[in-house]
Amino acid sequence: MIYNPEIECAPRPEMELLQSYRLAKIVRYVWENVPDYRRKMETVGLRPEDIRGVADLSRLPFMVKDDLRRTYPYGLFACKMSDVVRLHASSGTTGKQIVVGYTRRDLEMWADCVARCIVGVGGSKDDFIHVSYGYGLFTGGLGLHDGATALGATVIPASSGNTERQISIIRDFGATILCCTPSYALYIADMLDKQGIGKSELKLKIGIFGAEPWSEGMRREIENRLNIKAYNIYGLSEICGPGVSCDCEMQDGMHIHEDNFIPEIIDPDSGEVLPDGEEGELVITCVTKEAFPLLRYRTRDITSLHHGRCSCGRTLVKMSRITGRSDDMLIIRGVNVFPTQIESVLLNAGHVKPHYLLIADRQNNTDSLEIQVEVSNEVFSDEVRKLESLEKEIARNVQSVLGLTAKITLVEPMTIPRFEGKAKRVIDKRVY
Ligand code: ADP
Ligand code: ZN
Repeated sequence: MIYNPEIECAPRPEMELLQSYRLAKIVRYVWENVPDYRRKMETVGLRPEDIRGVADLSRLPFMVKDDLRRTYPYGLFACKMSDVVRLHASSGTTGKQIVVGYTRRDLEMWADCVARCIVGVGGSKDDFIHVSYGYGLFTGGLGLHDGATALGATVIPASSGNTERQISIIRDFGATILCCTPSYALYIADMLDKQGIGKSELKLKIGIFGAEPWSEGMRREIENRLNIKAYNIYGLSEICGPGVSCDCEMQDGMHIHEDNFIPEIIDPDSGEVLPDGEEGELVITCVTKEAFPLLRYRTRDITSLHHGRCSCGRTLVKMSRITGRSDDMLIIRGVNVFPTQIESVLLNAGHVKPHYLLIADRQNNTDSLEIQVEVSNEVFSDEVRKLESLEKEIARNVQSVLGLTAKITLVEPMTIPRFEGKAKRVIDKRVY
């Protein structure tokens, strides 16, 4: 089924016409309402009338996460604050948190996208949709919630945590669609085994999973263990939240709701726009948002775009699975963290040197993080007991400041490699 065939199956020229019209309009809107944008455009000698359609898109300057931090909290909002009906924030673990806002129409647009996603994976108003994404400032919970409500399905707003209770709700309430992170889906599968609950006792048939990178292998594992079809949903708070794109039943790429979000792929180093099929950084331009419309926003997510009619009938461009990130941000069990944040926690502990290595790994589909850090000579020659208590103290700080469980390994001075250029502080052994 297709929720909005007119848009989702529109011939390419029609889609481009719509995008062009909306793009020209939004450029003028931000020029008139967001001084920061106006300055950015003026710096490169652009005026709103220079952007007449999608062919001119690449003339606009990029926006990056730092622009959001620099203008925190409301510097990039384009509408009157009294028209803002909702705020969300990114988890705040990535340095200074950022805040995004929505007008009533923005929320409707977002819910419409999520409703398309649910229908695209085979859901309907008859489904019982169990939402185990966190509710709150994080966009996951309320994003799926509003989309499922717009569709008219029955929402079970479970939020995250208390897995045993979640399982009894899934079973007793007869949930047919499960929405959560892919790693949580596997955790649920583990708990089901542990409690001896058979898959046949559940009515689940579909999973809508996202918010973190995962692989085809993990998809197969989840499908087998829960006896469902598992689909990938993508999004980020800066753009709206989940539902920017989602798999269709073909499970061969996520259709982007490009009537709202115009995607481009660029070379992350040169900024040059890359052709269809080539891998690079995803850049998104929001053309329908009122409160927080980002133009040419660099998502840092690495993927590729694929145009053409899908076997499902949709013509919406597809993006492939996210294969990585263009910056050094790590996502460990759903928690976003930059090496620099770990560095500050380490250095606050004292006795350690700013030479450290982060080793991310994945065992049994769960992320692990080891932090190796050099200590000073005197500490290292101290008693083992003291070293152990320092390791524990650092682990505690990492947990309380960043919400991250990590194994701390103190190492001798001069054992961590040094670099002449940029340091490589992260070894990511995870394969998805
Ligand atoms: P935060 O985690 O900072 O609160 P978001 O929830 O907006 O912020 O996180 C968005 C990021 O999560 C994306 O930029 C992307 O890196 C990652 N992400 C979201 N969905 C997926 C997905 N389906 N596959 C891989 N990564 C994803
Ligand atoms: Zn499709």
